[in-house]
Amino acid sequence: MKRIGVFICHCGVNISNTVDVKKVVEEISKIPSVVACADYQYMCSDPGQDMIKKAIKENQLDSVVVAACSPRMHEPTFRATVSDAGMNPYCFEMSNIREQCSWVHLDGEKATKKAIDLVKSSVARASLLEPLVSQGVPVVPKALVIGGGIAGIQTSLDIANSGYKVYLVEKEPSIGGHMARFDKTFPTLDCAACILTPKMVDVARHPNIELLTYSEVESIDGSVGNFHVRVKKNPRYVDMEKCTGCGSCAEACRLAGRIASEFDMGLGKRGAIYVPFPQAVPLRYTIDPEKCLFLKHGKCGTSPKCADVCTTDAIKFDDKPEFVEFDVGAIVVATGFKEFSAELKPEYCYDKYPNVMTGLELERIFAPSGPTGGKPKINGKEPKRIVFISCVGSRDKKVGNAYCSRVCCMYIAKQAHLLKEKIPDADITVMYTDMRAFGKGYEEFYERVQKEGIKYRRGNAAEVYGQDGKLFVRAEDTLLGEPYELEADLVVLGTGLTPNPLAEGIGKLLHLSLSSDGFFLEAHPKLRPVDTVIDGVFLAGVAQGPKDIPDTVAQASGAASHVVNLLSKDEIFAEPTIAVVDEDACVGCKTCMLLCPFEAHEFDEEKGVMKVNAALCKGCGSCAAACPSGSIRMNHFTNDQIIAQLLEVL
Ligand SMILES: Cc1cc2nc3c(=O)[nH]c(=O)nc-3n(C[C@H](O)[C@H](O)[C@H](O)COP(=O)(O)OP(=O)(O)OC[C@H]3O[C@@H](n4cnc5c(N)ncnc54)[C@H](O)[C@@H]3O)c2cc1C
Repeated sequence: MKRIGVFICHCGVNISNTVDVKKVVEEISKIPSVVACADYQYMCSDPGQDMIKKAIKENQLDSVVVAACSPRMHEPTFRATVSDAGMNPYCFEMSNIREQCSWVHLDGEKATKKAIDLVKSSVARASLLEPLVSQGVPVVPKALVIGGGIAGIQTSLDIANSGYKVYLVEKEPSIGGHMARFDKTFPTLDCAACILTPKMVDVARHPNIELLTYSEVESIDGSVGNFHVRVKKNPRYVDMEKCTGCGSCAEACRLAGRIASEFDMGLGKRGAIYVPFPQAVPLRYTIDPEKCLFLKHGKCGTSPKCADVCTTDAIKFDDKPEFVEFDVGAIVVATGFKEFSAELKPEYCYDKYPNVMTGLELERIFAPSGPTGGKPKINGKEPKRIVFISCVGSRDKKVGNAYCSRVCCMYIAKQAHLLKEKIPDADITVMYTDMRAFGKGYEEFYERVQKEGIKYRRGNAAEVYGQDGKLFVRAEDTLLGEPYELEADLVVLGTGLTPNPLAEGIGKLLHLSLSSDGFFLEAHPKLRPVDTVIDGVFLAGVAQGPKDIPDTVAQASGAASHVVNLLSKDEIFAEPTIAVVDEDACVGCKTCMLLCPFEAHEFDEEKGVMKVNAALCKGCGSCAAACPSGSIRMNHFTNDQIIAQLLEVL
């Protein structure tokens, strides 16, 4: 018979206020295999852990049960505790008598009875637990960062500065992300380009960073410590080695100034050969194959002008996609966001009137390199009556976005300030839902903007409509409880941040989960905000959820430090709690292969049976539950262990 020790935690008073802990100790002590049983106020504290270690040694325990909170947080703590005392960590079992008992019941007597049942069931399972050994996997000391916005840039620089090689993959022709579009940033009004472009240049020059722009991750195989990555470099139709970025091709292009620029949100124009913006990194030209006359129709006048004027012979119309493959030990997803599509709020007539624009479009109007050279002109005129509408696409269940985008209140305050600075006699009103100025210096900035004469009126706008060539916004002031209407030369929609559809493929490749708002889900919202449930895969920036630049940079550095921590190890140990196939019983039906979300099952053609790739298996158990011949066994969750536990509570 196994020698089991059981330790009951009071969790301060979280458990002991409802459950009679002494009674639980008394009942559990009666089980013949339980040779040590004690309670303590905080079992996870140092004295609590010492109590367990001492009991293991004094009573030669084979298994330990701790009855406390959810194993999600403290199972690793107690596994380490028993391991310190020389016990195999997989001989440890946790009973959740807080979330599953004291927190959800008011009747102390019944809760105590339930706690006793739960602990008894854990003891039944603990008596069948077997020691398991983790396999060591060598770590490739390189990292992949996906997305070259400020999050990806900061992560890459931090990892590279620690001495590890980084592959930074960016879908667009240049790194920079959304921040590259801004003129100034709240609340300090720093010039965005002045703080971002030096970092972009550092990335390009860093000996440890390999920058793959205009590229997409095609496939990712393997697991923590050893991922194999295949990246597709899209053809630029310009030789990156030969192009000097002089720009004569763009000037000569027959379509120069005739194609809507994506970087300028369609407000500015570019040619078929272009750089997204003058400070692009790398400063190399790209031909748009959808627009270029020569690539589309095989003819551009008598000959393509770009090729005629290029003195370095860099134009390469026969360019083809290239594929690069490499191994990395860790991956950071920094794929950012997409601005909310204002068309989804038809009541604001975004599609109808050019003087109804989004926050991101107004950013380009402010930018000196933008379509109006930084002059706030709409349809060639300075707007004098300006209305901002907040929470467009945020905190709005009708469009499926219940969450707050966290940056709109502040970017509206910034934009209102910049407009007032440029047009001092402008009459500016912000229609807001609630003001959220949560960051350092934000409240002060909001106050400053109000003192500058910007009017704030609480209550969301109902609609924007045009009449007799004029534009009006109809709203209700929810503080005064009265409807009102404002005439406007410019209406700015404070559009929110939504999950980036360009990142969907990455999520699928890495088997990442999404939270209810559609952004990538972190392993734990408070304690592991940069980890994902997939070992070796981390999150940075808005890919994980809406945030401003300071929080993005902080999270990016956090992700980088986790990566460096991982890459600094020679080998890492994979969890042994995985599926194992009994080759004698397996009939090779491949049901497990079809179900496995991690593609961990392979068919052994020679033997006609399934094999499990231990590095890929996450121990989810889908295969074992579905296997028609019952030939898959889950380490640490065997049928015998689960049935013994169930019988005890039934
Ligand atoms: C109008 C507006 C104004 C703002 N003003 C401010 C401000 O003044 N101050 C402030 O602190 N914050 C501001 N913000 C918030 C700020 O934009 C974000 O905090 C910041 O851009 C987040 O950076 P990121 O790198 O996470 O995402 P992004 O900037 O979105 O960068 C993500 C990058 O990943 C790339 N990418 C996406 N998918 C893939 C893929 N599959 N493969 C490869 N690459 C991919 C994208 O092309 C992009 O380059 C503002 C936001 C808006 C909308």
